Amino acid sequence: MKKLDVAIVGAGPAGLAAALYLNRSDHRITLFERFSSPSPVGSGLILQPTGLTILDDLGLFDAIRALGNRIDRLHGTDAVTGRTVLDVKYSARPGGRFGLAVHRAALFDVLYRAVLDAGIAMETDVDVVSLESGADKTTLLTEAGRRFGPFDLVVDASGARSKLIRHCLAPSSPRPLAYGAYWASLKWHPEGFDNRSLVQRYQRASTMIGVLPIGRTPAGDHEMAAFFWSTKPEGEAALRQGGLQRWKDSVLALWPECSAYLDQISSFDEMTLARYGHHTLARPIGPRLAIIGDAAHSTSPQLGQGANMAMLDARALAHALAISGDLASALSSYARSRRNHIRGFQMFSRVFTPFYQSDSHILPLIRDHVVSNLARIPPVPQQLASLVAGTFIDPFRPIGLREKNWL
Ligand SMILES: Cc1cc2nc3c(=O)[nH]c(=O)nc-3n(C[C@H](O)[C@H](O)[C@H](O)COP(=O)(O)OP(=O)(O)OC[C@H]3O[C@@H](n4cnc5c(N)ncnc54)[C@H](O)[C@@H]3O)c2cc1C
Repeated sequence: MKKLDVAIVGAGPAGLAAALYLNRSDHRITLFERFSSPSPVGSGLILQPTGLTILDDLGLFDAIRALGNRIDRLHGTDAVTGRTVLDVKYSARPGGRFGLAVHRAALFDVLYRAVLDAGIAMETDVDVVSLESGADKTTLLTEAGRRFGPFDLVVDASGARSKLIRHCLAPSSPRPLAYGAYWASLKWHPEGFDNRSLVQRYQRASTMIGVLPIGRTPAGDHEMAAFFWSTKPEGEAALRQGGLQRWKDSVLALWPECSAYLDQISSFDEMTLARYGHHTLARPIGPRLAIIGDAAHSTSPQLGQGANMAMLDARALAHALAISGDLASALSSYARSRRNHIRGFQMFSRVFTPFYQSDSHILPLIRDHVVSNLARIPPVPQQLASLVAGTFIDPFRPIGLREKNWL
């Protein structure tokens, strides 16, 4: 295929990875970002073997490994009874897989530096709100009435609140989820915690508290942890009215070892309230348009796959363009190559989330007394390990990639 003029909208994990891949194939890339200086939003996340394989493919594995913190286990207990209700170990399957917990700033920095080093053109302070399609090119329209282009291909990587998905073949809107979470990036305190595990405490499904050791930020000199506490965004005002100390007391009552983290928080404003939504575009493509990352499929972070899936999408798009004879068949091939993996994981996420974040009294009982027992009987531990790793449905072969050799 001839080399294309490509506009990528959004400099998150999806957009930055797509810029690197498409630039590598010699397409002419311009990256557009609504913020005046691109920066990551939020706290920490887990890079799974899927996302780590992409970073390895981009030559960035060592850089991210140097900042992140290796995670071998996800361990959750009932806050009242102390009973283990979730215990997933990557090592349940052979092969040496692990997760890497990172501060978002670390992932952003590694990708963004690579984009700058590659000399990829970037336009900041550009809020792209619409597209105008001509006979064989597409122009970007901004909030301020500016126009950019025309381009042969637009890649929408603008995240879960994309304004461009209405241009795809079968648009649908994200459905807000009842529960979100407060997140904070704090100084890591090892006492009572394991630095190789994501540790969680639950009270029914209405409260979930988690501590994830996330390594360092590029500018930081100490190890950090992401602390999160699930809550309903609609109850935010009442929570704040009750006061910070009352909230801290309720956390400490469930998990006293968290005091070292709570002592670092002096205001609700030091935490970010994340709202979650769920949607999966049936066809994440349109005329000269590819939609990747959260813009195409967002969900709660219960399975910790979003950033990983976003980077898989980027690779899939580059692969489809490389093996197809024309743009229309490349876009169809991109959507096809990601369909099973995306639909499968979006479905798992929709099914699992209410067991951990909902008002249900029955689901947490099933979780604590049925699922937790089943999860100890082979092959369920192995299947859960693949689920968390993002490989339960093979994402690699359809996008022409082999998983990194972890040994
Ligand atoms: C609290 C929380 C915890 C999470 N934990 C995990 C985890 O453990 N593992 C995991 O893999 N995923 C996790 N996720 C999900 C993950 O963060 C997302 O899936 C991932 O960031 C999606 O990447 P993206 O590039 O598609 O979108 P985003 O990261 O949202 O990036 C979109 C970019 O587009 C820009 N933009 C938006 N609109 C416009 C516009 N109109 N014009 C120009 N630019 C625009 C934005 O400023 C942003 O830079 C978590 C999410 C949350 C909220």
